[in-house]
Amino acid sequence: MTASNSPQGAAPALSKLHILALGFALLMASVCLILVEYASLRSSLAAGVEVQMRIVAGNSVGALMFKDNAAADEILSSLSASSDIDAAALYDIGDARFAEYTRVQALPEFQTPQTADDPRHRSGLRHTEFWQPVAYAGNRIGMLYVRANLTKLYRQLAWYIATTSMVMLMTLFAAAILLGRLQRAVVHAEERVGYLVNYDTVTHLPNRYAFNQRFQSLLDEAKATQSRLALLVLDLDDFKLINDTLGHHVGDSLLRVVAQRLMSVVRHEDVIYRVGGDEFAMILSHAEDVERVEVIAQKFIHALTEPLVVDERNFYIGVSIGASIFPDDGNDVAHLLRDADAAMYHAKSRGKNNFQMFSEEMHHKSSTRLNLESELRIAMEQQQFELHYQPQVDLISRKLVGAEALIRWRHPTRGLLYPNDFIPIAEETGLIGSIGNWVLRTACQQAKSWQEQRFRPIRVSVNLSGRQFREDTLVESITTILHETEMNPDMLELEITESVLMDNAETTVARLKELRAMGMHLAIDDFGTGYSSMAYLKRFPVERLKIDRSFIRDIPQDSDDVAITVATIQMAHSLKLEVVAEGIETLAQTEFLCDQRCDVGQGFLFSQSLDQQQMTDLLRSGKTL
Ligand code: C2E
Ligand code: CA
Ligand code: CA
Repeated sequence: MTASNSPQGAAPALSKLHILALGFALLMASVCLILVEYASLRSSLAAGVEVQMRIVAGNSVGALMFKDNAAADEILSSLSASSDIDAAALYDIGDARFAEYTRVQALPEFQTPQTADDPRHRSGLRHTEFWQPVAYAGNRIGMLYVRANLTKLYRQLAWYIATTSMVMLMTLFAAAILLGRLQRAVVHAEERVGYLVNYDTVTHLPNRYAFNQRFQSLLDEAKATQSRLALLVLDLDDFKLINDTLGHHVGDSLLRVVAQRLMSVVRHEDVIYRVGGDEFAMILSHAEDVERVEVIAQKFIHALTEPLVVDERNFYIGVSIGASIFPDDGNDVAHLLRDADAAMYHAKSRGKNNFQMFSEEMHHKSSTRLNLESELRIAMEQQQFELHYQPQVDLISRKLVGAEALIRWRHPTRGLLYPNDFIPIAEETGLIGSIGNWVLRTACQQAKSWQEQRFRPIRVSVNLSGRQFREDTLVESITTILHETEMNPDMLELEITESVLMDNAETTVARLKELRAMGMHLAIDDFGTGYSSMAYLKRFPVERLKIDRSFIRDIPQDSDDVAITVATIQMAHSLKLEVVAEGIETLAQTEFLCDQRCDVGQGFLFSQSLDQQQMTDLLRSGKTL
């Protein structure tokens, strides 16, 4: 795609017009200057001639009075010093020619002016004629006539015209060059602006503006031809995290590599747009075959499975893709975009790196999601969160040994909400930081209060989400909270999921060691759902392993789950790790786990999660479960 309304075509025409206008202006100025110069040359000629005439007239008084022709001729011939003067004549009182002087041709017969009192002149094309009365004691006694030629004046004027024209032409030439340059600079600037308006400078893909324009026109086309059109919206998974932790430089480089990858799997004529921070889009015309949309989406997902190399480091980044179809899902840009977005969020909620076609049920979900984000902020301010506690039981003695803190949100209109409804969004938006700190502080305060009431000491487990665990301020925040609440770290356990452990093994080990050194205990949550190998676990300073409830659910009937659970318990024990079984709901499960020497159990069979008051009552009663 190019900047569509480029001014390139109009520019040269505009430039010619400018030059023409300037040329015309210069011509008019030249003509004015020449006219002024002509007038000034004429008036200086007249002034010069008139001065000489006054002298000659004064000198002629005697010659006229004494009718001395020879003297008069001599006086007139003094005018030969001026090359402008062609001829001169002196007339007596009766207007008869008394004396004359000619340079080239004889004087024609002529009339002296009727009223000869004032000096007069008459201008012709080739000559100017002057009359000057000769007076004695206030009375006119004769008339002096002089004819000046204009040859010299015309020569001067021609010279003047020539130089003026030269200067004007040179000015025009310089202006044309300058204007050309200016024009090119303007065209270049306009092209640059056009580029910036339409393209993203990081990835060099067309941007959201270009996308909107193109989408609208393709949609109009699809309407006219009654064809189908598909919109794919792509959103990178967890990109914000990389950007936040490794900086924008790495983030930008990564975006460029992602853009190249995506481009590499589509046809040359297909366009991918960068429509937001980590959002891309593609429009597919003539998408009659909806399966093709799915094929392309899968190609995108597949393209990003290979590591992305930035600064010689490997990054793995997933992409969640949603698609909407015209006319099935909507008739206008706004609806189709909203639907594709909803489908994309749905893909994210289905575990990311996933493609979803829009369906009507997603509508409701996507608007709920938007509300949720702002409501979560309010919830934090207005303290709508609660911590509930699920007891953990020693499977042999059945005594209460611990409690897992589980967050709840007492929503003002929707009732009690469970973490799966809001923790993923809190993670995505970064609100998890403050929510996580609140959980830690509340759990520590509560544990401290139970200690002070001298109940049977139990260890409180707090879940740490991935983003929260990776936050630079984690250790600092925990230190502050422990200090403020005077909580004994030995009574605090942090649960980290297996996938968080595997994310970046080196830094994770360092961080876990730091936390362990502070005296806290560490447990691996949801064990079995990730891909960690047992051997690998040796490297982490963890002490407990929580078998995910999906493995517990179908034991002892399901032989696969039985095999996995048995192997996990045995290997954990060989690594000196304690095992907690999650989600125990039946006696059969308990018996089986007891037989396998599983250490601790947690589940509805013993207790659901209890609110703060219920948990306190349970501790006070000292009951076994
Ligand atoms: P999880 O860490 O696996 O927590 C155990 C979940 O299993 C809890 O769900 C609990 O109510 C449920 N559960 C316990 N026993 C049984 C049982 O016998 N049967 C069944 N079907 N379920 C049982 P909950 O409270 O909805 O929490 C869901 C997840 O939310 C937790 O999974 C945990 O990953 C996360 N979560 C909870 N509280 C927090 C928190 O404060 N911070 C963070 N970051 N995540 C939390
Ligand atoms: Ca947990
Ligand atoms: Ca768990």
